Amino acid sequence: MTRFEQLRLDGVSRSFAGQAALADLDLTIRRGEFIALLGPSGCGKSTALNCLAGLLPLTRGSIWQDDTRLDTLPPEKRGFGMVFQNYALFPHLTVRKNVAFGLQMRRVSRADIRRRVDEAIRLVHLEEHAGKLPGQLSGGQQQRVAIARAVVLEPSLVLMDEPLSNLDAKLRLEMRTEIRRLHQSLGLTTVYVTHDQEEALSLADRLVVLRAGRVQQVGTPEELHTSPANWHVADFMGYRNLLRLRAGATDGATLAVSGDGLELTGTPVGDVRPGAEVIAGVRPEDLVIGPDSGAGVRAVVEVVEYQGREVAVEAVTDSGLRLNLRGTVRPAPGDRITVTVDPARLLVFPADPPGAPEPAVEPDRADAPVATG
Ligand code: ATP
Repeated sequence: MTRFEQLRLDGVSRSFAGQAALADLDLTIRRGEFIALLGPSGCGKSTALNCLAGLLPLTRGSIWQDDTRLDTLPPEKRGFGMVFQNYALFPHLTVRKNVAFGLQMRRVSRADIRRRVDEAIRLVHLEEHAGKLPGQLSGGQQQRVAIARAVVLEPSLVLMDEPLSNLDAKLRLEMRTEIRRLHQSLGLTTVYVTHDQEEALSLADRLVVLRAGRVQQVGTPEELHTSPANWHVADFMGYRNLLRLRAGATDGATLAVSGDGLELTGTPVGDVRPGAEVIAGVRPEDLVIGPDSGAGVRAVVEVVEYQGREVAVEAVTDSGLRLNLRGTVRPAPGDRITVTVDPARLLVFPADPPGAPEPAVEPDRADAPVATG
């Protein structure tokens, strides 16, 4: 395995027919890190991964492994392992032969191949299936073969592109744990592409959130969860209530925001000026349900969805805004409630400036604020 201290992406950009699919990606990946590239469909995640892998030439920028320039090398010279969504196994070869294939190409001795293949198959718990063909395995087992095939080569970096998206929900959770376990026990460095924020938050040491080909924020799961840099990241991080309001006066660390019959106090993030249009974001679990007679925003419950220990509630304010709430209080549809929020949990972001340059590539996810009145 080529040991490196860091892998550096320096202004990595890729366009298709003049349209930027990925623009100016700067990122330093440290050895042993698990990095998730996260963002909606079409934001440039796979483009970034394919640029790293060498499957796509860069339009601009460079990639460095310590002091060695990598982006001019073909994929096979980079020493990376890849795991794809569709497994990409050889259907006519057994599990064992699929895993051995890359080592045979590298002319590793037969004894070493046997030892390393046995070890890789054991790591992914496929000992009993080693003689089977891929078609005789479940989706999860096939993905384990793909992972074994990648790690058997002891790659300096493992690239994974939505490896779990073809699996059912239960298996996805199991494989998630498995991938994290392998990453840790083998001391891998992993770059993992996903559009599933929960998967990214649970797996990665650091996340890179992309939108329309541009990095929005790089941070630990905790940083992104509690301090999204802008409303687009907040939207992606589960701030399901995004309210288009107007900024009022500041008072210490807090800020008054109002509009659509709401008068709230929040915490500004970034450059928020009095009188400016803002987007106030709050997570469902940070909205507190109170009795009809209480203080706060008055609303009527519309939908109550049982979700195990908690319930998800949709309520509509008197001014017609739809709020998503979540908690252990279980109101009934039609109930009148009041809703309050801790100012520290209501993040107030600048709205996109009018005439802001359109993103190079629009994500296909509707990312307008959910409650604009
Ligand atoms: P998904 O989650 O849907 O795979 P993604 O975030 O991985 O999306 P990319 O596949 O990187 O997105 O694509 C980014 C943008 O670049 C998209 O608008 C896509 O249409 C465009 N694109 C990607 N590959 C090509 C190509 N070979 N030719 C032309 N445009 C491309």
